[in-house]
Amino acid sequence: MTCPLLYRFRVIDKIPEPPTQATARGTLVHSVLERLFDRPAAGRTPDAAREMVAPEWDRLAAEDHDLAALTTDDSERAAFLRDAVASVEGYFTLEDPRRLEPAEREHYVETVLDSGLKLRGYIDRLDLSAAGDIRIVDYKTGRVPREAYEASALFQMKFYALVIWRTRGVIPRMLQLMYLSDGEVLRYCPDESDLRATQRKLEALWAAIEKARASGDWRARPGKLCDWCRHKALCPAFGGTLPPLPSPAAAAPTLEPAPAS
Ligand code: SF4
Repeated sequence: MTCPLLYRFRVIDKIPEPPTQATARGTLVHSVLERLFDRPAAGRTPDAAREMVAPEWDRLAAEDHDLAALTTDDSERAAFLRDAVASVEGYFTLEDPRRLEPAEREHYVETVLDSGLKLRGYIDRLDLSAAGDIRIVDYKTGRVPREAYEASALFQMKFYALVIWRTRGVIPRMLQLMYLSDGEVLRYCPDESDLRATQRKLEALWAAIEKARASGDWRARPGKLCDWCRHKALCPAFGGTLPPLPSPAAAAPTLEPAPAS
């Protein structure tokens, strides 16, 4: 949706995007919040969560050299952990986890549309009320989007809502984006027409991807997000030279929400 060429770099060329401080903080905070709910309700306190941050980072860094490389000296590590603790503290300004019992955490979902298009992704948290209402929750460690980008943040949630509707037969009652660092929540109640429109948009997006794949024409679409693009050096819009396309067999495209912090 952002830029066809960026999609090519990520999904067709599969050019790695090593973690940054920001994405690593997102990974760490998501992991702490997921594991916080392993504890009995009374133990889900801000102090307990703060104490989980450093050991959780050590565990993640031990499993991934790219993560470990981000905090090689003590002051870097201390600053990184301070930021992560601030995000975790931000979570507690938004809700009290002692009053919640999530139905699912880091929940893998997948469905195949009638056209054959497979949708898949991971939902941070799924809450189920006694009446059977579903709430989809996503944690964000980045800033609250300005109005122009709010629709794009919600599109990811509608994508998940569509998958849940198709797999469970129930339209989620609420989509909830929690911006931990800013201490803000964005809520949306989808209806059937929303989800049907989301499906149409995904089918159209997929048709555009198939067309680009057949023609090899993955257009650069420069915009405000180019400054954050990890592949700007290769982008012809900024004087770069495109690498040759990989063989079709090595480049089976998929459709899932882009990783986001
Ligand atoms: S720099 Fe901008 S136009 Fe180029 S690939 Fe990245 S997002 Fe697309």
